[in-house]
Amino acid sequence: MRLISKYVSAAVFIALIAGCTRSPYHTTNKVYRKQAKAFAARLKAQPEMTGNDSIKAPEYLVGTTNFTMRKPNFVIIHHTLQSSSEQTLMTFTLPRTEVSSHYLVGKDGTVYHLLNDYLRAHHAGVGKWGNVTDMNSCSIGIELDNNGAEPFAEAQIASLLSLLSRLKQDYNIPPANFIGHADFAPARKSDPSIFFPWKTLSEKGFGLWYSDTLKDVPAGFNARMALRVIGYDTRDTTAAIRAFRRHYMQDTGRQLAPADLNVLYDLMNKN
Ligand SMILES: [Zn+2]
Repeated sequence: MRLISKYVSAAVFIALIAGCTRSPYHTTNKVYRKQAKAFAARLKAQPEMTGNDSIKAPEYLVGTTNFTMRKPNFVIIHHTLQSSSEQTLMTFTLPRTEVSSHYLVGKDGTVYHLLNDYLRAHHAGVGKWGNVTDMNSCSIGIELDNNGAEPFAEAQIASLLSLLSRLKQDYNIPPANFIGHADFAPARKSDPSIFFPWKTLSEKGFGLWYSDTLKDVPAGFNARMALRVIGYDTRDTTAAIRAFRRHYMQDTGRQLAPADLNVLYDLMNKN
């Protein structure tokens, strides 16, 4: 009995010590809480009555009783282009960098959740996918610890797949809306690299992939239009082709090969 109580008090002591361990991000977590609180206050505010010369204001406020939170509808995959998770955590907690993501997945499969999914991370920047230009407002950003020139770790991809399953289910994200940063911003970005296993992802329902048997391309097939139908911003066609080839051919070429046209035609009809 005495021995048991000794063990219990030792366990309580360890738990207390663990609870008291200060996170190295103690100070920036405080900033997070302060900013989140300010946004919460904005969400709580009722819509104001507005009126001016051209808008007639109503006589009383009416707040609807029926609403929920806006949900993310895209997932954007990135590689960090840095040398460790620690380096990226540092980058994302320095206000002057102005960049962030919702999640960071380490090489060992550790998943850091850096920002509430309902808030807007600064990960996608300027770009265009279909008619979506403000991708940060409607997406979840996931960074993978990877220097851009190496294969992605197995444990990292396993964690990523679990995370994607949860996000897809929670926010009802369609398969075609799991894309890479370079797909959204082909003229500026090249992540994730040719090492990223898009085919494996598509087999689990994240992102599109082409059929095993490809149909012949019809006469007069317009590759640029097909790229646009898939979602690519074709104002810089070479950049769009490169992004397409990186994603679907694991290649960084700037020219479409004849076989690429069959893939383009197939994907166009899947969208
Ligand atoms: Zn990126």
